[in-house]
Amino acid sequence: MPSLLEVSDVSVTFGAHRALDSVDLVAERGQITGLIGPNGAGKSTLFDVICGLRRPGTGRVVLDGEEITKLGPAHRARKGMARTFQGLELFGRLSVRDNLRVAADIRMAGGQASRLVDEIIDRVRLGAYADRLADSLPTGVGRLVEVARALTTEPRLILLDEPAAGQDPDETDRFAEILRKVAADGVGVMLVEHDMELVMGVCDTVHVLDLGAIISSGTPDEIRQHTAVLDAYLGA
Ligand code: ADP
Ligand code: MG
Repeated sequence: MPSLLEVSDVSVTFGAHRALDSVDLVAERGQITGLIGPNGAGKSTLFDVICGLRRPGTGRVVLDGEEITKLGPAHRARKGMARTFQGLELFGRLSVRDNLRVAADIRMAGGQASRLVDEIIDRVRLGAYADRLADSLPTGVGRLVEVARALTTEPRLILLDEPAAGQDPDETDRFAEILRKVAADGVGVMLVEHDMELVMGVCDTVHVLDLGAIISSGTPDEIRQHTAVLDAYLGA
């Protein structure tokens, strides 16, 4: 079986600036794949390429064996890709349930959408918040609602860009647990995140991006060792 996602030789330039330089990576079903690196490394640009918001100068994006490099974002969403963005993008004056309903109603009839929304609220353990306005939520809960909303499309691959920003440690623990559950259902998760404890605690594989290139890939333990060696070498 092919990998869920294969990115190969992807490069992106902005004028003279090379934001991505021949990036290769794979993401697997049922696994959480982390992408870390300093600000400006190219993480969000890589997500843009994966979800179809930006066409790469070179390279290919293959989803479940099918090349999708030339497909737009809506088409990729129909093929099972979902993404959340940096910063909350919920309808503030709608309840949590209605935020999910808006997304689910696009894809299915009323009764079915309603059942899916209830099931996801349960799965992401948002029951206590279901009738609250999105505006009134603590940031960490809002992040969970974004993930829940992405799940209403029943994605095969979900891309999360800094989902833990603004979460307190308890919220982050809960978030980690929910990501594990989502992955355990067979969904591939890609996680861009600055919270290293979360990344190292939850990811199966981590890729380190620096100046647009993958400089290290491996399990969290391997990345820790490699980073320690690099730091020693660089005298950091
Ligand atoms: P990250 O998400 O890792 O912080 P980005 O992917 O946002 O990094 O940015 C990578 C590099 O590309 C940065 O140097 C950024 O300034 C540049 N960049 C990103 N988007 C654009 C754009 N639309 N136009 C020009 N430069 C951009
Ligand atoms: Mg970014």
